Amino acid sequence: MQTLHDITSKDAPPRVLILGGTGEGAQLAARLAERTDFTVISSLAGRVGEPKLPQGLVRVGGFGGLDALASYLVKEEIKAVIDATHPFAAKISHNAAIACSRTGLPLIALRRPPWGKIDGDLWHEVDDFQSAASFVEAKKARVFLSIGRQEVGAFSECSDAWFLIRAIEMPGEGLPPYHEVILQRGPFELEDELHLLRKYSIDYLVSKNSGGSATYTKIEAARSLKIPVVMINRPLKPAVPCVGTVEEAIERLECLMPAASGASNYSEEC
Ligand code: NAP
Repeated sequence: MQTLHDITSKDAPPRVLILGGTGEGAQLAARLAERTDFTVISSLAGRVGEPKLPQGLVRVGGFGGLDALASYLVKEEIKAVIDATHPFAAKISHNAAIACSRTGLPLIALRRPPWGKIDGDLWHEVDDFQSAASFVEAKKARVFLSIGRQEVGAFSECSDAWFLIRAIEMPGEGLPPYHEVILQRGPFELEDELHLLRKYSIDYLVSKNSGGSATYTKIEAARSLKIPVVMINRPLKPAVPCVGTVEEAIERLECLMPAASGASNYSEEC
């Protein structure tokens, strides 16, 4: 005898989990939510109090570590995972890679390319937040710290530099002694970024190499005003199959799950 669970499991469209928190994650959720051949669930870390919620089903908050993520995937009958997390969110990506490998689920990583240095850019590249802090402290500079709020604590001992700190929400404890905080959410217009850098007589911009267009105007503004950028390189993410755009992520998903999507393009290259 069939139970209700059997019927819903068998007949419901396969569930795709998007690990989100990025514009691309939200765009992908919007594209998949329009369709009837997948059920999309977006997962957000819950780093901001009022996140922009993606379309489709949404869950918010950490899973409780690797084992809990693996259990969630099984319990919620997830059939594929798309890691569309921020380039600096390395832990969740590593957890997703291991959890998918353990549970035998396909994993697609949607990774936007990093920004590249171009003519006119004055970049000092570093590999971590602490190195960025040591660098600007030694310069005794007026610094635009545009790294979000989570890692601001790395600059807490910098008493020879002054900081304009921009974040979506107020950073917690561990702020450097001399600072001003502005609370803003991107994307930002180039004119506004130029105005900000001039208004605060900024000497250095500190930025994560996030890539994408939403926050690139600060890099353009710095280039235009010949302001050096302390560019923090990305942490390592796990080596898993990757795509660079939302469109490619959808194609890859259809390729991996042709029965669900009705696509006939299954090939050995999936
Ligand atoms: P992380 O270091 O990769 O993750 C830390 C923990 O947060 C994970 O182990 C997981 O908790 C939870 N988590 C992260 N992303 C999640 C998601 N999409 N769904 C559910 N849980 C998630 O990432 P992070 O601490 O959030 O951020 C690290 C860096 O990335 C920071 O520089 C931050 O500014 C930047 N960033 C992150 C996001 C984001 O949405 N996470 C967005 C923009 C920028 P459990 O172990 O409990 O599962």
